[in-house]
Amino acid sequence: MTDLPSHARVVIIGGGAVGVSALYHLALAGWTDCLLLERNELTAGSTWHAAGNCPSFSTSWAVMNMQRHSLSLYRRLAAEVDYPMNYHVTGSVRLAHTQTRMQEFQRAKGMGRAQGMALEVIGVAEIKARYPYVELHDLAGALYDPDDGDIDPAQLTQALAKGARMMGAQIARFTAVTGIARAGDEWVVQTDKGEVRCDKVVNAAGYQAQRVGEWFRPYGGRRVPMAVMSHQYLLTEQIPELADRMATDGKLPLLRDVDSSYYLRQEKAGFNLGPYERNARAHWATPDDPFPDDFSFQLFPDDLDRLEWYVQDACARVPLLAQAGVARVINGPIPYAPDGLPLLGPMPGVRNAYEACVFTFGITQAGGAGKVLAEWVTQGQTEWDMWSCDPRRFTACADDAYALAKAVETYGHEYAMHFPHARWPAGADLRLSPLQGRLTSAGAVMAPYNGWERAEWFAKPGDDLSWDATQTWDRAGPWEPRIAAECAAVRDGCGVLAISGFTRLTVSGPGARDHVDSLTCSRLPPPGRVGLAYFCDARGRVVTEMSVMNDAPDRVRLITASVAQWHDAEHLWRQAPPGISVTDHSDQAECLLVTGPQARAVLAGLTDADLSRPWLSIQSARVAGCGVTLLRVSFAGELGWEVHCPPADAPAIWDALTGAGAVPFGMAALNALRIEKGYKTWKGDLSTDYTALELGLDRFIDWAKDFPGKTALLAERAAGPARRFVTLTLDAPGAADAPYMSNIWLDDARVGETLSGAWGYRVGASVALGMLRADLVAAGTRVAVEVFGERFAATVQGQGALWDPLNLRLRG
Ligand SMILES: Cc1cc2nc3c(=O)[nH]c(=O)nc-3n(C[C@H](O)[C@H](O)[C@H](O)COP(=O)(O)OP(=O)(O)OC[C@H]3O[C@@H](n4cnc5c(N)ncnc54)[C@H](O)[C@@H]3O)c2cc1C
Repeated sequence: MTDLPSHARVVIIGGGAVGVSALYHLALAGWTDCLLLERNELTAGSTWHAAGNCPSFSTSWAVMNMQRHSLSLYRRLAAEVDYPMNYHVTGSVRLAHTQTRMQEFQRAKGMGRAQGMALEVIGVAEIKARYPYVELHDLAGALYDPDDGDIDPAQLTQALAKGARMMGAQIARFTAVTGIARAGDEWVVQTDKGEVRCDKVVNAAGYQAQRVGEWFRPYGGRRVPMAVMSHQYLLTEQIPELADRMATDGKLPLLRDVDSSYYLRQEKAGFNLGPYERNARAHWATPDDPFPDDFSFQLFPDDLDRLEWYVQDACARVPLLAQAGVARVINGPIPYAPDGLPLLGPMPGVRNAYEACVFTFGITQAGGAGKVLAEWVTQGQTEWDMWSCDPRRFTACADDAYALAKAVETYGHEYAMHFPHARWPAGADLRLSPLQGRLTSAGAVMAPYNGWERAEWFAKPGDDLSWDATQTWDRAGPWEPRIAAECAAVRDGCGVLAISGFTRLTVSGPGARDHVDSLTCSRLPPPGRVGLAYFCDARGRVVTEMSVMNDAPDRVRLITASVAQWHDAEHLWRQAPPGISVTDHSDQAECLLVTGPQARAVLAGLTDADLSRPWLSIQSARVAGCGVTLLRVSFAGELGWEVHCPPADAPAIWDALTGAGAVPFGMAALNALRIEKGYKTWKGDLSTDYTALELGLDRFIDWAKDFPGKTALLAERAAGPARRFVTLTLDAPGAADAPYMSNIWLDDARVGETLSGAWGYRVGASVALGMLRADLVAAGTRVAVEVFGERFAATVQGQGALWDPLNLRLRG
């Protein structure tokens, strides 16, 4: 029987690669009084049967960071903990069938370069030199990743476990957690071997995370949004030619045919073929297929029929593969969150609880994930912005049906490209505003924002709305003339945009205003006005931004991004003193943005409001006979008002506004308009990768008061920020605008990165917002922006906005 300690600072539930890496990194951070509980032997979940591929490739900046950390750790771990491991850094060749795929590779190469990795994009003629057995006739090129390889997942886990134990952390194997309770400030973790009390607890239960998550529901938790998919790879018999080659040339690089959707890896002198098949299969998702009590070290029955197309395709691509028969099939459970990324960070709704679970690439990500988890636990903040993996990105609308539909879709398109105008169909229409019918009959092409459907752009009869038309990184497409016209309507007349699903929070209770004031570096606006407030962490990095309406000492209302719903509510309540509550009213109002130089004229005939009230004013009024709140703001950077109304009244107000000449526009136009104004979006431009000073938020900082991050920001102010937020225009526009994290160059030196890019229809240029080395931010400085691998000369703009720098139109 395991000798369980009665108390640990942190208890981790689950001893797969991720849980053990979390324990290792906690110990590395000096938190050695930590305990990992594993119901069976370490690796009993998904880890033991994983193929162990370790790519660095990702199109997500955060995920690439995490994987890069893993790979660098795995190279030195065996020596550091004296635990030899089979880790082969073979490199990989990722094939492209199309030029759009080559563009994706160029982008990943640029991001890799920014992170110090030497990914290479190679032409068709160069592929054979890296991988002699491949058929080339239908290829466009490839990406070579020198850091890719494969590791033995069990050895990796054991090495991390050894390292953690050497530092003093404890692991109790064959100890199943059976429940959770609270006793005062402590968690009581119940196991089949007795109880352990702890300060903080981590759900690292892999594909069993939903079951573990249920125990946290009485303490504010939610149902873990995930599904379990079946994932297979097959191992072939040995191939003499490969055996001969190995003796002289070593192991082949890993080959990924992402357009056909499989990887092919040399395994000893045979192959390992692993497809992500379209006809994907979920398990344990229906009442007739209940979740098993225990599936440790078990597999699903082989299901090779599902893989037939992929096997044939791979044999045609690498004819050598066809020489060998199948020796063994591995079909195991693999967890999927709706977007295929893990749940890594604070557990939504629950204090002192964290998640490091639902990893689909948990071997290559375990190292980095352990570091991130340890930072969350020990510091409450992470080195890299990790929003793309933050569990709070899914909110209440991500129910089981949604999670399943998205998991099946995401698995089947694991290697798919995610083009800006493509909308994946599964899980649509989760949250519909009462305007949905009006929007779609006006031609709206919709997209979800935290489940809320909003118009992206308005199509006209005859526009090509096919899936194929969206398969491009280019600006041009059926949407382009429509977005141009929508921007022109906002510039010259009046547009109306339904912004459904804004997050609306109220902080109330004695001292509510002081509480919000203590969290933000900004000065709260006076009553009757709306103002932007920024919230920093201890390093002065920007955690979030909210619009604040400061009604009374005991009531503050805040409006924030739709996707920030749980994140921002938690930022307010987690630190709230007793007596302060945070309530969410997001579904109780609809917002219509009415904006453009004619906005006043359009509204005038419909409202009793005083439309002469200034920019940032708030007033209650009637529009089209309905009671509304009018905020004099416009994210489009024109004269405008946000009309906030009860959802049921939105159709009448919409009809009145459009009847009076307001032209419907969509989120794509709003994005272009706000970029010309230099307005930042949360997690688009504002993130914990940058400080408030780097982001140019100086004028929002009230230095006279105390706030989180002040010490760090004072020091940074004294030294001068190393980089600054800028607007750039590309001198000669290419076919595409700069995507997130495109490199900015000064000759051959990388001097920054872009954050947002779009065509600015009012200024007639491809505009990028980005972060640039501080000595280069003077207006007129010439740099180059790398867009999908091609460098474009660009000019740094002055500190004011490109469009209406004096805000004359906004205040007009
Ligand atoms: C066929 C296949 C091939 C794969 N290939 C790769 C690959 O090449 N590269 C890659 O990066 N990823 C791959 N994966 C994915 C990878 O296996 C997982 O992402 C990874 O193993 C997840 O690790 P984990 O620690 O999060 O979860 P797990 O390994 O599932 O560990 C969770 C642990 O929690 C324990 N546990 C659960 N409930 C309790 C409880 N109540 N009390 C105590 N303990 C509990 C379980 O026993 C288990 O050991 C593959 C997956 C499959 C199915």
